[in-house]
Amino acid sequence: MEYYSTNRQSPPVSLQEAVLRGLAPDRGLYMPQRIGTLPKAFFNNIAQMSLCEISYAVASILFGDDIESDVLKDIVYDTLNFDIPLRHITDDRYCLELFHGPTLAFKDVGARFMARMLSHFNKQSGDNRCVNVLVATSGDTGSAVANGFLGVPGVRVFVLYPQGKVSKIQEAQFATLGQNVTALEVNGTFDDCQALVKKAFLDQDLNEAMMLTSANSINVARFLPQSFYYFYAYAQLARREQDTDNIVVAVPSGNFGNLAAGLIAKRMGLPIKRFIAANNRNCVFYDYLLTGKYEPRPSIATIANAMDVGDPSNFARILDLYHRSHNEICADISGCTYTDEQISQTIADTWRDNGYLLDPHGAVAYRAISELTHPGEVCVALETAHPAKFKGTVEHITGEQVEIPERLKKFLNGEKQTTKISSGFHTFKKFLLSTL
Ligand SMILES: *Cc1c(COP(=O)(O)O)cnc(C)c1O
Repeated sequence: MEYYSTNRQSPPVSLQEAVLRGLAPDRGLYMPQRIGTLPKAFFNNIAQMSLCEISYAVASILFGDDIESDVLKDIVYDTLNFDIPLRHITDDRYCLELFHGPTLAFKDVGARFMARMLSHFNKQSGDNRCVNVLVATSGDTGSAVANGFLGVPGVRVFVLYPQGKVSKIQEAQFATLGQNVTALEVNGTFDDCQALVKKAFLDQDLNEAMMLTSANSINVARFLPQSFYYFYAYAQLARREQDTDNIVVAVPSGNFGNLAAGLIAKRMGLPIKRFIAANNRNCVFYDYLLTGKYEPRPSIATIANAMDVGDPSNFARILDLYHRSHNEICADISGCTYTDEQISQTIADTWRDNGYLLDPHGAVAYRAISELTHPGEVCVALETAHPAKFKGTVEHITGEQVEIPERLKKFLNGEKQTTKISSGFHTFKKFLLSTL
């Protein structure tokens, strides 16, 4: 099946090309030409199926025409070697815990899947060179991508981060790994790191010498697998004999890849009644729902910082899915925007009343299902990060210590291995070429 660009100014491509390219040449985002649906029998059996079985069935509909079934099965089963449990909090409210992967955040799912699919397509392309993934990070994306790609053959990762500006825990998660992961400590800001990566993608010498790609949610191989766990949430509700005709899912959103993947799941036949796009004070999507106008603006720093996005890249995919119709979008998605005070209050209240500790991102979604749902609806908030990842913030709010899981502690014991570079492009380019 072919993938087209949301800008429709460059030709449709194969899945392989969409994955190797990332962004389309016209700077649009790739979308599948056709979104298949799952048969009724699948939903009759889903309560008995495991996360991997469900994900493989969904993956077969999405990717089955373009990749051999045994290869696809390996990719899915290697990616999802952790659980995504649905926790009952109170009344009809649940949290889907997406944070049991290696870096304790939901990006692990997409990053791990993409690493394996990219490795497969690179091998298949017959080009004997390895693919070089460049990521600029202010903390979280770098760790998910670095760990997702760690040890995957044929792929190398370069993580650029601003020296002294990420937390110790975040740094440990990508700067201690070694193997095919190189951490570059840039003497500058996050924006400098991002500028270096952007320049590299446009540099002719570099692109001739080495294959470069990015690993953000623009890539279809990172974006589409995020639809799997919406089906698994449904399966767990069916297992509990909940009313599966009235499911509402709130998604804490930044670049909107996670929510857009949920919309794909719905398009594939998953009966989710509606979605709530839950935002912190960065609320361009909320404003779009109110006014029909999309007006990107600079991001504002909040305590849910992985959602501090002022121009969400996957908005283009949402518009495209709904034929650019504001009415159709509003029929499936409602929105909300919360301040840091409201997010903190939700963490404090849920801890006190229900004994459940939310992280600041999940708290945005949880507040949404507490305020914006109706009696009879079965409500799921996606919990995108483990609260220990935001230990300082969460402890300040609850006044209690947060235990750091073993997996995070292990990173902290690793030895830091980084290369320091200036923020000038010339040094970065020379460094990349020296690794060939
Ligand atoms: C990236 C991230 C988000 C936002 O996800 P998008 O797909 O960009 O909308 C939410 N929560 C956490 C913890 C994240 O790391």
